Amino acid sequence: MRLRRLRSPLSLLLLLGAGCLGAQTSPFRITPRRPIAELRAEALVAMPPVETGKAAPDLIDLTSVDARIRLDIRYATADNFMGVAMYDRATARLQRPAAEALGRVQQALAAEGLGLLVFDAYRPWYVTKMFWEATPDSQRVFVADPSRGSRHNRGAAVDLTLYDLRTGAPLPMPSGYDEFTERAYPDYAGGTEAERANRARLRRAMEAEGFTVYEAEWWHFDFRGWESWALGNTPGA
Ligand SMILES: [Zn+2]
Repeated sequence: MRLRRLRSPLSLLLLLGAGCLGAQTSPFRITPRRPIAELRAEALVAMPPVETGKAAPDLIDLTSVDARIRLDIRYATADNFMGVAMYDRATARLQRPAAEALGRVQQALAAEGLGLLVFDAYRPWYVTKMFWEATPDSQRVFVADPSRGSRHNRGAAVDLTLYDLRTGAPLPMPSGYDEFTERAYPDYAGGTEAERANRARLRRAMEAEGFTVYEAEWWHFDFRGWESWALGNTPGA
């Protein structure tokens, strides 16, 4: 899931208010406005906004870049905010320069005994469209507007966390993935010292290779030059 990039005080209040609606320890869930099958059929025949002057897509499987990069693709399971599998396959791809940069992040983290655990990377535009159409108006602040698309659609954004290379266990972080509370903010001051330190390690490692953390999600990073790639709509995430 991807928040819309709203920076007004009102949007922050909406975000925090929505986060306070209920306990967020289990996956954040919406009640889709219409049947998922109907939304999927519509989204698959819809067309993304036309863009010109963009680079040709060259999406690379992240596990082929470095075998220590592991996947936990929540949108290929029902364990996501829609409550149903959105992808047919549990794969993660990024545009080649972003994928190679992530390989360098993994290389650096391995020296500290850490691995990258990826939740999502390239996401076809029609899935963003489904998120939008499924989400009630009051919760649309949480999803990207398909008229602009998501940086995930461009194959230039990745959602991820850290895991221990020795045990395979994910490192504790201040919030869960897609947990839409103030705990998701990369500058959230709560949580334990260890959780905040893990979040900082991930951010430092990603920033060293050209990734920027999203202001409302510690797990979401955009790769520099994301705007040079077009919105992708090829299925088979
Ligand atoms: Zn994301």
